[in-house]
Amino acid sequence: MSHQRPDALDVPAIRSAYPILERTFDGTQLVYLDNAATTQTPDPVVDAMSDYYRETNANVHRGIHHLSQEASIAYEEAHDRLAEFVGASGGRRELVFTKNTTESENMIAHAWGLRELGPGDEVVLTQMEHHASLVTWQQVAMRAGADVKYIRVDDDGRLDMDHAREVISDDTAMLSAVHVSNTLGTVNPVSELVDLAHEHDALAFIDGAQAVPTRPVDVEAIDADFYAFSGHKMAGPTGIGCLYGKEDLLADLDPYLYGGGMIRKVTYDESSWGEVPWKFEAGTPPIAEAVGLAAAADYLDDIGMERVRAHEERLAAAAYDALSGIDGLTIYGPEPGPDRAGLVSFSMENVHAHDLASICNDHAVAIRAGDHCTQPLHDTLGVSATARASFYVYNSVDEIDPLVEAVEDARALFA
Ligand code: PLP
Repeated sequence: MSHQRPDALDVPAIRSAYPILERTFDGTQLVYLDNAATTQTPDPVVDAMSDYYRETNANVHRGIHHLSQEASIAYEEAHDRLAEFVGASGGRRELVFTKNTTESENMIAHAWGLRELGPGDEVVLTQMEHHASLVTWQQVAMRAGADVKYIRVDDDGRLDMDHAREVISDDTAMLSAVHVSNTLGTVNPVSELVDLAHEHDALAFIDGAQAVPTRPVDVEAIDADFYAFSGHKMAGPTGIGCLYGKEDLLADLDPYLYGGGMIRKVTYDESSWGEVPWKFEAGTPPIAEAVGLAAAADYLDDIGMERVRAHEERLAAAAYDALSGIDGLTIYGPEPGPDRAGLVSFSMENVHAHDLASICNDHAVAIRAGDHCTQPLHDTLGVSATARASFYVYNSVDEIDPLVEAVEDARALFA
């Protein structure tokens, strides 16, 4: 069997679909390395949304006129497309549109957690959870009288799986784990974690916000009960995210939001709910955004998610190598390899992460600085903030040079 690496991406051709990347600041070409926060949106996605607004725009599910019917079909089919993108064979019956990953987490924590959790139950998280998962389960567990436990992160930035086997027990009711850490870049062994949860009759929620944009994801192969991701991190629009859930689990849950579009029958005294996914999509949903997100799924599949992953790994390895040569700089997370995704967080002795990002900005290099919504993890790492460079399909290895120059510059100025 051959193990050929997939082709490198044709970055110049890819970039031609992103006019925003041509922007200059004080005559310097933008280098956009803030992709873990939000990716840029290619022309096919912008065009799909603008065509929708120019030709089809109407509210869904309610009208019998042509435009409403066309909008409804486009909106419904977008569910099937996103389900297909992550390997969910139940199509729209397993794929709910939400606002983002955060809302997907909140929906399950409230709809499932407040009903099922109680004293004696435990929710198991990892120490590297994003606040979207950590704060949500922490607060819902508190309201339900349940406990929260955390799987440790080891010194290399990987989950301590021996500790996972200790912490996940018959008291565990829910495991919620991040697939790819937005701070460490670690790709977690989510199938193993899900199996551990299932061995103890617990459910498993996987936060795929950084995984779905950057690698092939098959929710059925992982056997996740719930899996969440956001449109704006995968070349899609803001304002839309996805919640995958196994069909029987979603069918059994009560809605999290009430209102129009999600009911079957309403009287002054009581109401009953429509089918999945509509019972979870109260009010006017993000229709144009759904059309745009389906176009983003087509766009990424045309490139090929294996090639996206290989490109990300290559850039992360190149950035890791280049940055690790700088004196006083510490990089967090595992060394480059198959369990490290395309982002690199780092700190510099005597230079605050915000100063690093600010000097990078002077060089028109866009990176992020702060706690990346992982404050407890930063406490564990012993730093209040880190700088983070993150890559996507339109970034080239050449763009690492201006990053390194800017970081060297910051060191010369502050250190
Ligand atoms: N989970 C992870 C791992 C993330 O990186 C993010 C965003 O940075 C989120 C959750 C939250 O995503 P959103 O802000 O789209 O809800």
